[in-house]
Amino acid sequence: LEEQFRQAQKMESVGQLAAGVAHDFNNILTIIQGHSGLLMSRANLAPAMITSIQAISFASERATSLTRQLLMFSRKEVIQPKQLDLKSVVDNMSKMLQRLLGETIAFKCTSSPNLPTVLGDTGMMEQILMNLAVNARDAMTKGGTLSVSTGPISVSLDYVKVHPDARTGLFVCLQVQDTGCGMDAPTMKRIFEPFFTTKEAGKGTGLGLATVYGIVKQHSGWIEVNSHLGKGTTFKIFFPATQKVVETPAATTVVTDGELRGGYE
Ligand code: ADP
Repeated sequence: LEEQFRQAQKMESVGQLAAGVAHDFNNILTIIQGHSGLLMSRANLAPAMITSIQAISFASERATSLTRQLLMFSRKEVIQPKQLDLKSVVDNMSKMLQRLLGETIAFKCTSSPNLPTVLGDTGMMEQILMNLAVNARDAMTKGGTLSVSTGPISVSLDYVKVHPDARTGLFVCLQVQDTGCGMDAPTMKRIFEPFFTTKEAGKGTGLGLATVYGIVKQHSGWIEVNSHLGKGTTFKIFFPATQKVVETPAATTVVTDGELRGGYE
């Protein structure tokens, strides 16, 4: 618990710092981009000049995207919760996810019938999926499968004993499983830390999972991670179910994970 508290405080202060810096940087970057655009529109530029301006513009675009991520991570937006059907959120994202994963990674999407709704923010749920999918893609450089599934789970006291973040009751589990490189124990310990990354410079910010963690907390949920080196990683995210049940006429494939299936009602 103390560890969790320390972690939360760290996130909070890093978040505030990040938001301030990101905001100032954004203003500066707007100026850089504006002026490189102006330069580029000049007539009779020497080829070497064009190459330089393009390099400036490319670098500032990357910096803009990084500050955008920082702002997203640190912004404590008050969520406007709505009754959400997580399956529809996943379905609506599937085209984009497939494009993101590319041709060497298969994308599987399954859901169990009669999924209860959750109270949440659609944009934030999409953010979770995107961040997990980007990591899965980066973990499967030689190809593989990304499976996303949604299902209801009734959490028992026995489960809570092993997972201190959990609570008993009815939840909806969003499971994102890859067949990638997996993680060792020291990496696993740190994945939710802001700015922790094992990716090479310029590729990772270390904010993806910290963002996911923040969003899930805001939705009163928790995350369970299982990973095996060389085999793959499974993220399970639990959101409190609201009573309304979404009618789904035909059952699609049920989650293949034995542990989770055991918890299904
Ligand atoms: P980033 O992706 O920018 O590195 P994240 O917070 O999203 O930041 O992830 C932190 C680290 O966690 C990654 O650098 C990687 O080492 C590890 N990681 C996250 N997801 C996976 C995954 N699906 N498979 C293997 N390692 C992962």
